Amino acid sequence: MSTNLAAIGYLVAAVCFILALRGLSSPATSRAGNRYGMIGMAIAIVITLLALPHARASTYLFILLALVIGGGIGYVVARRIEMTAMPQLVAAFHSLVGLAAVFVAIGAFSSPADFGITDPDGHIHLLSRLEMGLGIIIGAITFSGSVIAFGKLQAKLPPSIEKAFGPLQPLVRTAMSSRPILLPGRHAINMTIGALIVLLLLWFIAAESTVAFTLMTLLAFAIGFLLIIPIGGADMPVVVSMLNSYSGWAAAGIGFTLKNPMLIVTGALVGSSGAILSYIMCRAMNRSFVSVILGGFGETAAAAGELEERTVKAGSAEDAAFIMENAQKVIIVPGYGMAVAQAQHAVRELYDILTKKGVEVKFAIHPVAGRMPGHMNVLLAEANIPYDVVFEMEEINNEFGQADVAYVIGANDITNPAAKTDTSSPIYGMPVLDVDKAKAVFFIKRSMAPGYAGIDNPLFYMDRTMMLFGDAKKVTEEVVKAMG
Ligand code: NDP
Repeated sequence: MSTNLAAIGYLVAAVCFILALRGLSSPATSRAGNRYGMIGMAIAIVITLLALPHARASTYLFILLALVIGGGIGYVVARRIEMTAMPQLVAAFHSLVGLAAVFVAIGAFSSPADFGITDPDGHIHLLSRLEMGLGIIIGAITFSGSVIAFGKLQAKLPPSIEKAFGPLQPLVRTAMSSRPILLPGRHAINMTIGALIVLLLLWFIAAESTVAFTLMTLLAFAIGFLLIIPIGGADMPVVVSMLNSYSGWAAAGIGFTLKNPMLIVTGALVGSSGAILSYIMCRAMNRSFVSVILGGFGETAAAAGELEERTVKAGSAEDAAFIMENAQKVIIVPGYGMAVAQAQHAVRELYDILTKKGVEVKFAIHPVAGRMPGHMNVLLAEANIPYDVVFEMEEINNEFGQADVAYVIGANDITNPAAKTDTSSPIYGMPVLDVDKAKAVFFIKRSMAPGYAGIDNPLFYMDRTMMLFGDAKKVTEEVVKAMG
């Protein structure tokens, strides 16, 4: 295939990716966005295969084999994965992008002539050494950071897998806790490792040294691990989008080494959109990017581990149904528990029946509700809840004062008023939904257990609060039935 034709194909694919990102920015256009992404990726793969330099039949055979194995695993995983496990799956995928960058850099370093990155004297071009070095460092950080993020999001492994770690089991359990792990002197350790990596990179660029290449890779793996373990539960949303951004830059790094403009463009798109998303998440949580990276949010949660024994008012589905059908305005606040229970269709029924009875129903979405950006929007869209009744936090927060009922379904941290008033709270400063301003607050959850940040919620003990204990789907179905 001619270089010009390949360039045109890559351009078309890049435009598709840009349209995909644009489409994904709103629930109404996200399906079309996904389609553009798939078309772009198909074009990119076909052009890359046709434009392979020095390709032999065996080259295609290996690629086909890898496609079948990788595609097969991907297909099975995608079919089996629970919606609630998507965030950790995404973290696992990011780790693979990081590892791919590391492998490509190792391949390029060990046989640079095959990659066409050598000078006539056989040395690797100076610029390629820089690209390769940066690619492997970012790739290694992305890999180990994503593995820890996966652990923190997964929270626990199936017992059979955990057993395989033998005496290391307690260590694995601690690493997978959403609580921050704060090593003494961690800032000094990280800064020293960071400085060493920079020095080793310079040494590698200057002397093409294998020792420098190996050491900087190992240290990059270590710093990825060390950077993520001190980050507490409440900051994970930023970490997930930050690792998304890193995986993009790692891919762009591989693109330079492989001289593939498509990979550079795609990597840069993922890298920059992930960086913008991280910025948006930081703003939503009222956190600075630097303080997230330095870690420790949720520290006091660990200290405050024990939850107080206080009395709460528990109600029945019938009580809730009676109050809601006589209300004028109900705001539904979905959270992670709605995803766990797959209660979105029951919520749709609740929305339908209340609307039919003349009650005004709106949905309030917190930017970090659930376990991934846009988690709640995806679920509500799946249940065909109209987009025009779904509002972002800043659009709806001042309406809670006029609401008769806030129906909080499987949400916890995102409603916690301690974030507004309690300076000692680990989530102090994070904007939350003002559900406490509603005339009545219903909490649908199974127990008094805390949410992801591991802290108690003073709202449970309010006079105006009624706890509806049970699975979110079951309780909501019962409420609907009681109204029928
Ligand atoms: P939370 O994790 O604070 O609370 C969810 C609540 O749902 C729990 O208290 C749990 O209580 C309840 N629950 C779980 N399963 C069910 C079920 N089957 N039926 C009914 N209730 C259930 O979720 P929020 O959405 O309020 O907040 C999100 C949290 O996750 C924040 O701390 C955020 O920082 C963090 N996070 C967000 C990410 C993102 O990108 N959005 C990424 C990573 C973390 P019980 O066990 O008693 O039922």
